[in-house]
Amino acid sequence: SDRPASLWAMIAKTCARNGDGEALICGNARLSWRQAVDQATRIASGFRKLGLRRGDRVAILLGNRVEFPLLLFAAAHEGLVTVLLSTRQQKPEIAYVLADCDARILIHEAALVDRLPDARDVPEVVHRIAVDDNPALSRFSVLADNAPAPTPVETSEEDTAMILYTSGTTGKPKGAMLAHCNIVHSSMVFVSCLELTDADRSIAAVPLGHVTGVVANITTMIGCGGALIIMPEFKAAEYLKLAARERVTYTVMVPAMYNLCLLQPDFDSYDLSSWRIGGFGGAPMPVATIEKLEATIPGLKLANCYGATETTSPSTLMPGELTASHIDSVGLPCPGARIIAMDAAGRELPPGEIGELWIQSASVIKGYWNNPKATAESFTAGFWHSGDLGSVDAGGFVRVFDRQKDMINRGGLKIYSAEVESVLAGHPAVVESAIIAKPCPVLGERVHAVVVTRAPVASDDLRSWCAERLSDYKVPETMAITADPLPRNANGKVLKRQLRELW
Ligand code: ATP
Repeated sequence: SDRPASLWAMIAKTCARNGDGEALICGNARLSWRQAVDQATRIASGFRKLGLRRGDRVAILLGNRVEFPLLLFAAAHEGLVTVLLSTRQQKPEIAYVLADCDARILIHEAALVDRLPDARDVPEVVHRIAVDDNPALSRFSVLADNAPAPTPVETSEEDTAMILYTSGTTGKPKGAMLAHCNIVHSSMVFVSCLELTDADRSIAAVPLGHVTGVVANITTMIGCGGALIIMPEFKAAEYLKLAARERVTYTVMVPAMYNLCLLQPDFDSYDLSSWRIGGFGGAPMPVATIEKLEATIPGLKLANCYGATETTSPSTLMPGELTASHIDSVGLPCPGARIIAMDAAGRELPPGEIGELWIQSASVIKGYWNNPKATAESFTAGFWHSGDLGSVDAGGFVRVFDRQKDMINRGGLKIYSAEVESVLAGHPAVVESAIIAKPCPVLGERVHAVVVTRAPVASDDLRSWCAERLSDYKVPETMAITADPLPRNANGKVLKRQLRELW
């Protein structure tokens, strides 16, 4: 087939086909594919000058800005592995990832300099490059002011292109290794299933450092050769204004963002007639939101997309015309994907029965960076164990009901209870704690903590303890403080279902 074998090959192909077409739009910046490639190859030779070689890790701690995709393109040109950090991470989280992935270089928002770990704590990071709109604060010219690098570095399609960290049920985050072939496959799945072309225009309003931002937005637009409009920060009113002005056709967002759009009092007044595909995923979408969107934007087809970092974004897609008749399903397995429901003993269940969903596809990653134990626990014969409870019916439609993994889904952002509980356990007044979800009409779930203390302590103190150590969205929004021990079963496991009713 003529499928590109690497991320760079996909970029080069699009540039050759549609060099003059708009590629990246952000604020005042508007770059064609040819201009984007020109800038990326200049950054690529900057990487060479710094001595970076194929396989070296480049950590990126940037918000949604035009440099973000340009750095990904440049790294792809050089066969470097980008490690995507979140701008919401705090110092200890950032330090952990930099050390774990053994990053050579960190490219960061100049404004986040106070969040960076001390150089002696991460001696492996030999270069730090600040990026800012203000040239006085930015060191980006170190990379950008070079002559274009002539030839791309040879890569294998099995090479890791990006590492995205996901937290787990046991403590520390794990680096999901997204290979070139995973990313190319996922991008082409979006392009072919959603029939995207170089006439499509998309807004990236989700964080670019998450799998939805990087794959459903950036690399999918590379795949079809369309234009990517980058929003520095999602705000519903601005989003609607931008979508109307830029004649947007395709977006993928989390349900909470659609909910927030619908909450705008003047929602009906925006001309969204160009918008034809609204992909959503990362969390369940309220039925009322789907119905209201379909009723207000007649040309819009909504497409549920169920996926994860470990599946390089999509594992199912709902054909837009079936959304209304299959409102309780996340769609059909993507081309080449197999999804099965398994019982606790690891046996495949018959159609319709509920078990853990296992997913196999060319977009499922091979494993976690430098972590054979976690890889062995989460993958079997190419299947990723999703930790989600669901079923697959005789017609192939997949349903997701609940999850086994102890995780809170706050508007698509995932909070693993164990991570927050272990931070709380470090506080001198805390005996133990349990993180549970509270329902929220906009975000789906919010983070609530039940904390057992041995000495009087204010919940604000516990919250600031967490805020120094955890991304802002992981910090419990509400807390119940008690001196009673948590309810446990005979095996000592905390009974969270019972806690949800009590607190
Ligand atoms: P991102 O990293 O951009 O938030 P993501 O949400 O797809 O992307 P993860 O953070 O790895 O990826 O979370 C994956 C989990 O999100 C799934 O295991 C499932 O619990 C939940 N999820 C993803 N898509 C859906 C969906 N369409 N409907 C219901 N739950 C979903």
